[in-house]
Amino acid sequence: MTKAFGEGPDRVLALNDVSVEIGENEFFTLLGPSGCGKTTLLRLIAGFDHPTAGTILLNGEDISGLPPFKRPVNTVFQNYALFPHMTVAGNIGFGLEMLGRSKPDVASTVDEMLRLVRMEALKNRRTSQISGGQQQRVALARALAPQPKVLLLDEPLSALDLKLRKEMQIELKRLQNETGITFIFVTHDQEEALTMSDRIAVMSNGSILQVGSPREIYDHPSDRFVANFIGDTNLMEADVVSAANGTARLRLPSGVEVDADVPDGMRPEGRVTAVVRPEHAALAGDAGAAMLSGTLETVVYFGTDTHYHVRLPDGGLFTVRAQNARGHAEARQQGSPVGIHLSERSVQVLRD
Ligand code: ATP
Repeated sequence: MTKAFGEGPDRVLALNDVSVEIGENEFFTLLGPSGCGKTTLLRLIAGFDHPTAGTILLNGEDISGLPPFKRPVNTVFQNYALFPHMTVAGNIGFGLEMLGRSKPDVASTVDEMLRLVRMEALKNRRTSQISGGQQQRVALARALAPQPKVLLLDEPLSALDLKLRKEMQIELKRLQNETGITFIFVTHDQEEALTMSDRIAVMSNGSILQVGSPREIYDHPSDRFVANFIGDTNLMEADVVSAANGTARLRLPSGVEVDADVPDGMRPEGRVTAVVRPEHAALAGDAGAAMLSGTLETVVYFGTDTHYHVRLPDGGLFTVRAQNARGHAEARQQGSPVGIHLSERSVQVLRD
C-alpha cells in the first residue's frame, strides 16, 4: 500500500509500498520514530484516509472502499477523546446507542465492559472527574464495546506517567488476551513494543524494514536501523571468510574468526557490518579467551548490572554489560587493557 500527501515538490510519500499481514488475535505493534508513517497506516486501516494505491483486506474481503463506521474496526486515540460532560457509563454506551442497540442490550454491554476494565465503582462519575489512567480505561472500554474485529491503538499510553504506563501495558495485554480481538498498537517506544507484542513491524521513512517476534527483532535485527533502534548495540566491521545458508564465518578486526547469523535471503561477501548486544559479551577472564581487546575507558554501575565501555584499537567503543553479583567488588581499573569474549552465536550480520 502507498500513501502520498500533496503534489509536485511538496509531495510526501508517507507510506512507500508497504505490505503486511496481521494474524487474527494478534497483538501487533507498529514501531518507529516520529514521522515514519505509523499513524498514516493506522488511519488507512480505520478508513479516516484513503490509500493512493493498494488495498486493505479483512478476512480476505476488500474493505478499502468502506467508510469508517462500516468497518469492524475501532480506534483508541492518544488523547482518549471522551465526552467530559457524560458519565463513564454514558461514554461507554454512546457508540452502541448510535448503532441502534436496544436499551437493555446497551446497559448489559456497558456493565460487561466496566467489569472488563475494572471500573464498576466509577460507573456514574463524569469523565472530567476521574484520573488520566481511569480515562484511559474508559476509552478502551468504549472502543471495545461494539466488539470490533480489530482495535487500533495510537500511542494510547503516552500521556500517562511511567508507573501507570507500566500498569496499563500489563492491562492492555490482559484485555487483548481476554477479548481475543486483534490489537494493532502504535508506539515509538522500543521497550513497550518488546514487552507487549506478539509481533512487531519496525518502520522507517514510510517503509517496513522488518517484521518478527520481539525475540527475532532483538536477536536478529536485519539491518543497521533496526539494530540501532532496538536495544543497545555494538557494531563491527568484519570480513566474510565463508558463507552458507543463514550463517557466515567472519574474521573480526582482531583476526579472530567467529560464526555469525545472516538475515534471510542475504548472501554476505567481502566486508560486512555485524552487531553484538552488550549482554552477549563479557570481559575476558570472566568467561574464556579474548576475541577482541582494547582499553577499559569507563565503568558505569546500574544496580542490577554494570556497563564497561572498551576503546578498541580501531577507535570504536564497545560496550560489555555484566550482571552484578551481590557483594562483588569492582576489580577492573579504568584505563587498563582488557579482553572481550563474545558468547556462542551472538554475532549477527546486517544487511547494510
Ligand atoms: P508520530 O510518531 O510523530 O505520530 P508517525 O510515524 O505516526 O509519526 P505519520 O503521522 O504517519 O508519522 O506521518 C508520516 C509522514 O507523512 C510525515 O512526514 C508527515 O509529515 C506526513 N504527513 C502525515 N499526514 C499528512 C498530511 N495530512 N498532509 C501532509 N503530510 C502528512
